[in-house]
Amino acid sequence: MSQVSENPGMSEDIEASSDGLHEAPDRLYEGYIFDLDGTIYLGDELLPGAKRLVLKLRELVKRVVFLSNNPTKDPETYAEKLTGMGIETPASDIVNTVVSMTQWLSQNHPDATVFPIAEKPLIHALKEAGIKMSERAEEIDFVVASYDRTFDYRKLQIAFDAIWYHKRARLVTTNPDRYCPFPGGRGEPDAAAIVAAIEACTGARCETNTGKPDPIMLDIVMDLTGLEVTDCVMTGDRLYTDIRMALDAGMPSAVVLTGETTAETLAHEPASNKPTYILERIDQLIPQHLWEQFGWIEDGE
Ligand SMILES: [Mg+2]
Repeated sequence: MSQVSENPGMSEDIEASSDGLHEAPDRLYEGYIFDLDGTIYLGDELLPGAKRLVLKLRELVKRVVFLSNNPTKDPETYAEKLTGMGIETPASDIVNTVVSMTQWLSQNHPDATVFPIAEKPLIHALKEAGIKMSERAEEIDFVVASYDRTFDYRKLQIAFDAIWYHKRARLVTTNPDRYCPFPGGRGEPDAAAIVAAIEACTGARCETNTGKPDPIMLDIVMDLTGLEVTDCVMTGDRLYTDIRMALDAGMPSAVVLTGETTAETLAHEPASNKPTYILERIDQLIPQHLWEQFGWIEDGE
């Protein structure tokens, strides 16, 4: 540990450290999949090295995909935010739970009638994909519970009637998050609260989640990119979502210690929860032996 505190940047000491806390890749992958908050940016600030990393990966013709569990935003919104921060990104490089739920329904239940408890971005995407939607309980096959700040008793009644009274609909969700954290410590109730309300009155169990940590989300990314799981690395700041999903999908993974996970919490985790790589900065995804060639300095932006 003393090596780490004495050498805060990338250094031979860290790369070669045998404490198991800092292990950077010594190879490049074909696909790089990133969590966003705590990994690429924190709130409205890019994290150190994120911009030069993504620009370099694109220059190297690597596929870059960004993930988010939040279904209240369009992929375009994330693309605009990244582009505004200097990481020019098309909406097609964003896979959030609007994309994953729409894809999952299109691939597995293209003829189903769904009742989305959702905000406009998901409803719009389902419509665009040709998924049939209805509020008539007797014809609903899937109740899609999501992070919906317009959730009310009327929607709960429709879900209840479709699942319990008509014994017809199945319950699925975009993402399993209990709350969505905000900068400064507040947050908002997330999709888990909607799922819990429906489960409580119907006795049904939610069958499918298309967000992290379910590997369905990575399956969708593999389908969209045509890449194999072993050719990609999933990087994020949370062990129980980003890293769990990669482990369950058989994908190499990297935790970056710029968000939720710290070196100390990581040290107490069993080996079964640990990622392939542990990074202090996200640009350590580029192997050290290439830094000089790229003209990179240790603490560059
Ligand atoms: Mg995160």
